Amino acid sequence: MEITTHAGVLSFEDAYETVRAYCGQKSKQLRMRSEEVPLLAALGRVLAEPVIADRDFPPFPRATRDGYAVRSQDLENGPATLRVVGQVRAGDSYDLPVAAGEAVEIMTGAAVPPGADAVVMVEYTVRKTAKHEIGRAGGEAQPGDAGNADDIIGIEERKNRAVATTVAEELIDIQRRTSAGENVVPAGAEAKAGQELLSRGLRLGPAQLALAASAGKASLNVYRKPRVAILSTGDELVDVAEKPGPNQIRNSNSYSLAAEVAACGGEPVQLPIAPDEAGKLAELIQEGLKADLLLLSGGVSMGKFDLVEQALTDLGATFFFTGALIQPGRPVVFGETGTVPFFGLPGNPVSVMVTFELFARQVLETLSGSGPATLKSAKGRLMKEFRTKTGLTRFLPARITGGLHDPEVHVVPWQGSGDMLAAAQANCYLVVPPDRESLAEGEMVTVVIH
Ligand code: AMP
Ligand code: MG
Repeated sequence: MEITTHAGVLSFEDAYETVRAYCGQKSKQLRMRSEEVPLLAALGRVLAEPVIADRDFPPFPRATRDGYAVRSQDLENGPATLRVVGQVRAGDSYDLPVAAGEAVEIMTGAAVPPGADAVVMVEYTVRKTAKHEIGRAGGEAQPGDAGNADDIIGIEERKNRAVATTVAEELIDIQRRTSAGENVVPAGAEAKAGQELLSRGLRLGPAQLALAASAGKASLNVYRKPRVAILSTGDELVDVAEKPGPNQIRNSNSYSLAAEVAACGGEPVQLPIAPDEAGKLAELIQEGLKADLLLLSGGVSMGKFDLVEQALTDLGATFFFTGALIQPGRPVVFGETGTVPFFGLPGNPVSVMVTFELFARQVLETLSGSGPATLKSAKGRLMKEFRTKTGLTRFLPARITGGLHDPEVHVVPWQGSGDMLAAAQANCYLVVPPDRESLAEGEMVTVVIH
């Protein structure tokens, strides 16, 4: 979809696609510079430079089980008895080739010795000690030469000693056929040296940090955090630390938005509250446009003192839409001034969170270098019939509960889009398509997870 200047009210889908198209077209222009940070500090950040394998992954043929490294040919015809000629632990270097009829005791994570091509799990083996009389005529017995059960020495070596002695041989009976490659991950099977392990634009979670660590990266090159200005507007607002007058309310949107921004990998910049007065509002908007993204809350409805759109127009803004057919959040505004994108989010506390989730998050993700992720959704069974009116796509505070199988969706009772308690009890939004008057009890419904 092309981004065009609709400056009108769009369906949810069109508004959503408009934001994604903007992200697609502007991704290079919007992306931040990069910086080097210590590995752990890179959690949640976005890679600005690929991570390359400094050696093969795994670097050696890795045993994935405790057991015996064997030559699969020796076990081609089913059960066999092999001589245990050594032991290799994780971290050991064991270079002696495994010869026909031999096995080497091996631990998980150890390098499979040359010659061996499979590992038989210890559970499929029976270990035993066999005593043999071996020796050569004329040989002189040496003190201490008698074998014992702990002495793992090959028969050949025993024979070479010109002695007649009883040797104890360590043997294993293996009860099952074993094929080449069993319980062994070949060197380089996961990645070859020089291969890209993590690509640029990837958001780093625990698994990605672990992989970077295993490639020897003590620090990573990540994109700088985008700065997101947050500007709450409204004459009725006071700061949290202030005592509100009887008809005033505290500025909570500044905190929900700052928290959303921080959780999404941005750096929130909370501006002072803007009054519903054109001059001061314009001044603070200009301040906000110094950031990489500006999020306004309030002042975008149809009221006499909803001055945000006019103030942005006066500053030469381009509008991509000035409303979406959704509830809550219908008056949401999206546009750009110069190269700085902005959202005018409706002031109601639930609306502000829903519209951040549906639209603003995508631009923030693009700024942070990862590109917009799609909405996270899940399916669950609606536990109670829900009735509404057609015409708007609704995103209503709900709870999804239960385990992996048959999750349950409960709509949280609310007093409308100003009901912060409902928002605080919710862990998702129930999606009601615009053509549905009701959703039936027991129906499988979609929720957006946040
Ligand atoms: P508005 O979008 O400016 O018409 O505001 C809609 C509703 O949201 C009104 O009830 C406002 O008082 C409330 N509201 C606006 N901004 C905030 C804010 N920053 N924090 C909490 N509530 C707000
Ligand atoms: Mg207002």
